[in-house]
Amino acid sequence: MDNRIESPQDDRLQELCGRLRDMAADLDRPGAWPAEQLRLCSEYGVFEWFLSPDVGGQGWSEADVMRGYLELSSACLTTTFVITQRTGACRRIEACDNEELKARLLPDLVKGRTFATVGISHLTTSRRHLAKPVLRAEETAEGFLLDGFSPWVTGGPFADHILIGATLNDGRQILAVMPMDAPGVSVAPVADLVGLSASHTGPVQCDRVKLGREWLVAGPVEEVMKLGVGARPGGFQTSALAIGLAGGAVSFLHEEASKREDLRKVTEALHAEWHELRGDLLSAASDEPVCSTEKLRTRANSLALRSSQAALAAAKGTGYVVGHPAGRWCREALFFLVWSCPQPVMSANLCELAGLAD
Ligand SMILES: Cc1cc2nc3c(=O)[nH]c(=O)nc-3n(C[C@H](O)[C@H](O)[C@H](O)COP(=O)(O)OP(=O)(O)OC[C@H]3O[C@@H](n4cnc5c(N)ncnc54)[C@H](O)[C@@H]3O)c2cc1C
Repeated sequence: MDNRIESPQDDRLQELCGRLRDMAADLDRPGAWPAEQLRLCSEYGVFEWFLSPDVGGQGWSEADVMRGYLELSSACLTTTFVITQRTGACRRIEACDNEELKARLLPDLVKGRTFATVGISHLTTSRRHLAKPVLRAEETAEGFLLDGFSPWVTGGPFADHILIGATLNDGRQILAVMPMDAPGVSVAPVADLVGLSASHTGPVQCDRVKLGREWLVAGPVEEVMKLGVGARPGGFQTSALAIGLAGGAVSFLHEEASKREDLRKVTEALHAEWHELRGDLLSAASDEPVCSTEKLRTRANSLALRSSQAALAAAKGTGYVVGHPAGRWCREALFFLVWSCPQPVMSANLCELAGLAD
């Protein structure tokens, strides 16, 4: 049977989300990885949403992609987060001029037969204060030699390829696809995280890894991340996932409030805020922004933190027992304080936490 979801209005999206929601608690097990969840997403055609029909995708509009992310992330944040990293790699590859690379990698990626992820944060939001880049590239006759490490790579142990960024001596940067079986590539055992541990995020080590020019996606150029499409730090998708998480917590509050009058006022206030923010996200994704991308992300972070904690307060001690979704939402909401968080968003979050006017 063909289960492909062809629009965010398709009933099969709710069917898939129900299945992901039922499995979400399994990901709290030590060592868990959302293999079955990703297989289901592949079966429902989720990986096709983000790529154009030329490469076997469905080419959804940015607003529809956000609608999809809102639903998926309210069901299972870990799986949705892994998908964003996978999509970041796919979209950068699709947008590049390296036709051979695209033809070699995209057909398997769009069908979910292979898994790719990104190791790019050290070019934007991680280790930027250090004098020496953590991952360096040296130009050779055949291509590049990569040395150092990429500090944050989601799903590294399960990846076939990483879209990786590295910096040359003169400050120019490259983006390239690195096969995980290239000599010199290694993944250390991943550390336990406060939330989303099942995303298996951790450093990937590159010990003088030789990459031929055929793997090059962009560069060498200054600020390579500003070229083309992909995961912009603080872009819409990070906000969509935070709003999706808040949506899950608000739905839980609704269920509780239907039996408990004392929760009604708070639930209605959080629901109204969620509804407005969701609308503002979809306007921004349709090129009609009502506020800056950074303001949207700041508001999304704030709502994710407050609504998850409201869900925990409503669930009382029962919600504090590991396995209850309210406790998990609280831990997951903290992720938005650190994930792909540009300086102005971090400052605004800190001001809110300190009770200072922004
Ligand atoms: C669960 C998770 C998954 C992620 N997945 C990915 C992924 O798949 N791909 C990807 O590319 N990225 C990923 N990231 C990276 C993420 O987007 C951010 O880049 C990352 O959270 C930045 O944190 P950092 O500790 O590396 O920051 P840093 O800025 O490097 O801070 C590290 C430490 O340095 C110190 N420090 C910071 N700033 C200064 C300063 N100005 N002066 C002196 N000391 C300072 C602080 O003590 C700080 O704890 C992920 C992050 C997390 C947490």
